[in-house]
Amino acid sequence: MNVGNRNTAGLTIGVLALQGAFSSHQRAFERVREGVRTRQVRLPRDLDGVDALAMPGGESSTMSQLLGSSRLFDAIATRIASGMPVFGTCAGVILLAKSVLDGRDDQRSFAALNATVRRNGYGRQIDSFEADIVVAGLHAPFPAVFIRAPIIESVGTDVEVLATHGGVPVAVATDRIVGITFHPELTDDLRLHGLFVDRIVGSLATNRR
Ligand code: GLN
Repeated sequence: MNVGNRNTAGLTIGVLALQGAFSSHQRAFERVREGVRTRQVRLPRDLDGVDALAMPGGESSTMSQLLGSSRLFDAIATRIASGMPVFGTCAGVILLAKSVLDGRDDQRSFAALNATVRRNGYGRQIDSFEADIVVAGLHAPFPAVFIRAPIIESVGTDVEVLATHGGVPVAVATDRIVGITFHPELTDDLRLHGLFVDRIVGSLATNRR
């Protein structure tokens, strides 16, 4: 599906490929808008020429460890500080959050999203579920798959809540960061990948490195 009409040609989206559902993100981004390319990011040099980064679902504490051992943590933090947009889903939101509850003691996050996130916040009783979610900017509900999802317990005033489920934010954004506690990469619905690409195209055009 290609539903875009904005200038996305030549946009390269890096996908953090240390662990988790990274190839599903690659497939989604390559289909969603004309000319979007993706690249797996495993080492600091893989970030060269990448316009934005996706952090997939998986296991955030494992990713945190691998980010340290690969030296990617500091490289990504530097790029985020200079404005690189990031799309984080599930474990990716945990990696982006300013404050992580119930994380491993040594777990690190980028503090790029002014939010407090509790790992596995829905608990063991309902660790996986699906729900149709109304998302700001999308005309029809999004079929959301939650897998041992985190709960966004609070967000700062600079964070826009795009969707809630049961009164809890499940999709949030700033001008550069989009965080989703479910897994849009595990469905055929590409609208949230499209929403991220469309949000970042304008800001990248004015801030090309
Ligand atoms: N519970 C996982 C974590 O703490 C996230 C689950 C997921 O990404 N599906 O990282």
